[in-house]
Amino acid sequence: MIQIFNTLTKKKELFRPIDESHITIYVCGPTVYDFAHIGNARSVVVYDILFRLLKLCYNKVTYIRNITDIDDKIIQAAENNEKGIKDITDHYTKAFHDDIKSLQCLEPTYEPKATENIKHIIKLIEHLISSGHAYHANNHIYFSIESYCEYGMLSGKKVDELTHGSRVEIDKNKKHPGDFVLWKPADDIDYKLLSYWQSPWGEGRPGWHIECSAMSYSCLGQNFDIHGGGIDLQFPHHENEIAQNKSAFPGSIFARYWVHNGFLTINKEKMSKSLLNIVSIRDLLSSGIKGEVIRYALLKTHYRKPLDWTEDIISESQENLNKFYKVLNGIDVASVDLIGNYNVSIPKDFIDALKNDLNVPEALAVLHEMVAAINKASYMDQKLKLIKAFVKSAQLIGLMQSNYEKWFAVDRNYQEIEKLINMRRAARLNKDYMTADAIREKLKQMGISISDNKNGTITW
Ligand code: AMP
Ligand code: ZN
Repeated sequence: MIQIFNTLTKKKELFRPIDESHITIYVCGPTVYDFAHIGNARSVVVYDILFRLLKLCYNKVTYIRNITDIDDKIIQAAENNEKGIKDITDHYTKAFHDDIKSLQCLEPTYEPKATENIKHIIKLIEHLISSGHAYHANNHIYFSIESYCEYGMLSGKKVDELTHGSRVEIDKNKKHPGDFVLWKPADDIDYKLLSYWQSPWGEGRPGWHIECSAMSYSCLGQNFDIHGGGIDLQFPHHENEIAQNKSAFPGSIFARYWVHNGFLTINKEKMSKSLLNIVSIRDLLSSGIKGEVIRYALLKTHYRKPLDWTEDIISESQENLNKFYKVLNGIDVASVDLIGNYNVSIPKDFIDALKNDLNVPEALAVLHEMVAAINKASYMDQKLKLIKAFVKSAQLIGLMQSNYEKWFAVDRNYQEIEKLINMRRAARLNKDYMTADAIREKLKQMGISISDNKNGTITW
């Protein structure tokens, strides 16, 4: 049985699906106005692992990850770049897909876009107005948080506390400072950029929270198993989604389990565009770091803990994966696949770690134990069997997608590279930095980047 930490109950719970024959999950996806950063990547990789585990345990899993393609920041980006909204969103949606593909993430079952769901959004707002949960004021439609008696169930915030001094913006049109916008009227920029739609309340566009409510409802219905996203979305975004859906569909459970990944930080501060401390996936990839290395680095820390991004994490992950790929030296992976006689299964410890609230660091430790066993194995037969189980396990979490030759670029002569690295190390020890630099340059020309850390020199 899978156990997962549920933010709603603040407890690790046994995962009991609504319908064992069809598991349903909705995750808040990116707002596409710039390249995705490594914090966004963390969220995508975490839910990719959950998706893979659910697929292993159940026959049918529907995984919805939306694209937020209308938003103030998108409009701002279109204005700044003198582009249309769709030019911006198409460009960054494609970039997002390319980047996360490099991180070996599987595609979700369906990826709805907010702008393709305006009809559903309007219908949901109409329903909230007619049931007394939303109201019209100054050409805006607001959700009334006082109309929903369980408001605060996810974040623990109290309606009375959402007043002065809180981060909720003060707006004199609202009945309560915590009320939030469901629909806002078009302004001059919206008319210029055509970022508005017709509605019963005039031309305008939806608020962010109602978009996800409408998309999860249109794709998965009133009730589904898991809702995920980064911990920054717990309040107000997810709290507001709950208020909207449970008000619109009284008696529904909406999402049974709420899962939140921790922040990826830099110098212990959340990585975010507004703090100007972002590292994009694209920058890392174009500096020559392999997608699988980035994935490994994101998986080294348990998904609920903060992960502070450092250069060391990358070099350690590169070293760890080098160690993994070295076991394939001289092994034809295709022939490993052909050893059909071996009934090789993924070790129970490995699966159990994943089932225990996605304990990937523990699953990685099992992979390291498997590598140690492979390196100790004296008979080829035994070795191949262990390798097969190792590759199968690693591939379950999206690792070991390459082979020895490609990983070490053996066509560029791995032995030669090792020899040069050893010569450079010796030169550095002798303080012969000219020779060391010349060797670095030679390696660079061979397409090999190197860096030094406390454990020695690593290549990528
Ligand atoms: P956004 O594009 O900002 O709407 O975010 C897309 C997803 O990435 C959401 O699930 C966010 O919670 C998540 N996210 C954004 N920044 C970080 C970060 N620094 N660490 C972890 N997750 C993040
Ligand atoms: Zn959302």
